Amino acid sequence: MAGLLFIISAPSGSGKSTLVSEVRRLVSGLEFSVSYTTRAPRGSEEDGKEYHFITRERFERMIAADEFLEWAQVFGKDYYGTARTALTHAGEQGHDLLLDIDVQGALQVMEKMPEAVSIFILPPSPQVLELRLRNRSQAEGVTQEEVIERRLNQARTELSRIERYRYALVNDVLDQAASEMRSIVLTARSEASEEDGYLAASCETRAGSARLASSLSSFGVSLEHFPC
Ligand code: ADP
Ligand code: 5GP
Repeated sequence: MAGLLFIISAPSGSGKSTLVSEVRRLVSGLEFSVSYTTRAPRGSEEDGKEYHFITRERFERMIAADEFLEWAQVFGKDYYGTARTALTHAGEQGHDLLLDIDVQGALQVMEKMPEAVSIFILPPSPQVLELRLRNRSQAEGVTQEEVIERRLNQARTELSRIERYRYALVNDVLDQAASEMRSIVLTARSEASEEDGYLAASCETRAGSARLASSLSSFGVSLEHFPC
């Protein structure tokens, strides 16, 4: 593939989809890989837009035919996967590709494509994450306590793998997080101004910014094993 590959992971409800749409508005040539999933569409989601919604049988046939770059069972329940064709397609268009995938899938892609630029998005605290999950559920007209609880617990597990990601962004103020992500993309493209370069460097996970430390400690995850 000719373009750059960006891996974005975040606990569900952190605001990753919101942030990614904002960044795609700010930066051109960023293609979004539409994943395959066996979960049911949520709210206003449409087949082929947020996801390709497919049956478990079809997903298993795609695994057997080696059609996925990576795939994982998320929340111990539904399957999610990135088709290899997403890479080919972006490469043909000369676009960079953005993968929104969970930590299990991200680790598989990092292994296969070490040049990929990895970004982890964190919510400022578990309280804010819970609020965002509840607000989104309410807007979609379904609030399942069990689903919210599962996602909050999963967030702690995912955050404990953050040191594997090159960059870490705290999505507290949307505009700020979006300009940080923009500066990371421009830096990876070698198109960053000096200011953008500094901004991207301040988001490196190993820089251990005060915002990052504060978010992690609110989830009970320590920064002590990070090289600073
Ligand atoms: P994800 O894709 O990480 O699961 P979403 O993008 O669906 O999360 O966002 C979850 C909820 O949080 C949505 O209701 C969204 O509008 C809201 N949200 C996202 N980013 C912010 C932010 N920076 N400040 C306040 N609310 C936000
Ligand atoms: P949601 O059901 O909230 O849309 O997504 C749940 C989780 O699945 C999120 O962490 C999201 O990043 C992850 N996910 C979405 N698509 C893929 C994919 O193709 N592969 C993997 N491994 N995870 C995915």
